[in-house]
Amino acid sequence: MIIQPFPSGPFGTNAYVIACPLTRQAVIIDPAPGSFSKLTDFIAKNSLVPTAIWLTHSHWDHIVDTAAVKAQYSIPVAIHTLDVPNLEQPGTDKLPCWMTIEGVTPDQLIKEGDHLICGALDFEVIHTPGHTPGGVCFYCPKEGVLISGDTLFKGTIGNLSFPTCQPEAMWISLDKLAKLPGHVRVFPGHGLNTTIGQEVWLPKARQIFDK
Ligand SMILES: [Zn+2]
Ligand SMILES: [Zn+2]
Repeated sequence: MIIQPFPSGPFGTNAYVIACPLTRQAVIIDPAPGSFSKLTDFIAKNSLVPTAIWLTHSHWDHIVDTAAVKAQYSIPVAIHTLDVPNLEQPGTDKLPCWMTIEGVTPDQLIKEGDHLICGALDFEVIHTPGHTPGGVCFYCPKEGVLISGDTLFKGTIGNLSFPTCQPEAMWISLDKLAKLPGHVRVFPGHGLNTTIGQEVWLPKARQIFDK
C-alpha cells in the first residue's frame, strides 16, 4: 500500500494519500489547510486515480481543503454522520478558527463496521468518538494499517477539552484500538506514525489521561 503523509497548516495536520499499487486508485484523507497542491502534485506525479475523500473527523484543521480537492476531481466525500454539522457549516463545533472555510455537503455517511474500498484495499470503519462525536479510524486488517485521526497519536491521545469532546466515549474508543494486533501500523492526524504494540500504555489510557 502507498501511504504518503503531508503535514500541513498551523498544526501540522497530516493529510494523507493512500493508494492501491495494483489499480493506482487513491483516496485522500483529511485535506488539511494548504495541502491541496501537495496532494494534487503527488497524485499527478504518481499517475494515481483519486476515487474519494475520507474524513477522520470534522475539525477545521482536517477539512479546510476538502471543497477544493472535491471540486478538482469530482469525487465523493465520506464522513461519520455525527460529524456532518461542522463539515456542512464550519464553526458549528465552536472551535476557535481564524480561517474562512467553505462548507461541504458529504456524499457518503459512514458508521461503525462499514467497509470503504480503495482499489484492492478494504478498510473497515471503526467509530472512535471522544475527541469528536463522529470521529473514526480507518483500519485495513490485511495490510495492518490504521489511520487514527486525532484519537491516537504516537505517545498520546487527542485533546479532550474542546466543546464537543466526550471523554467517557474516548476511553471506550481507545480500548477498541488497544485490542488491535500489536503489529498494526498507526498513521495519526498529527505527528509521526507508530504501531499499536509500541504504544504499551494504550490499555491503561484512562488511568493515565483521565484528569
Ligand atoms: Zn481534531
Ligand atoms: Zn487535528
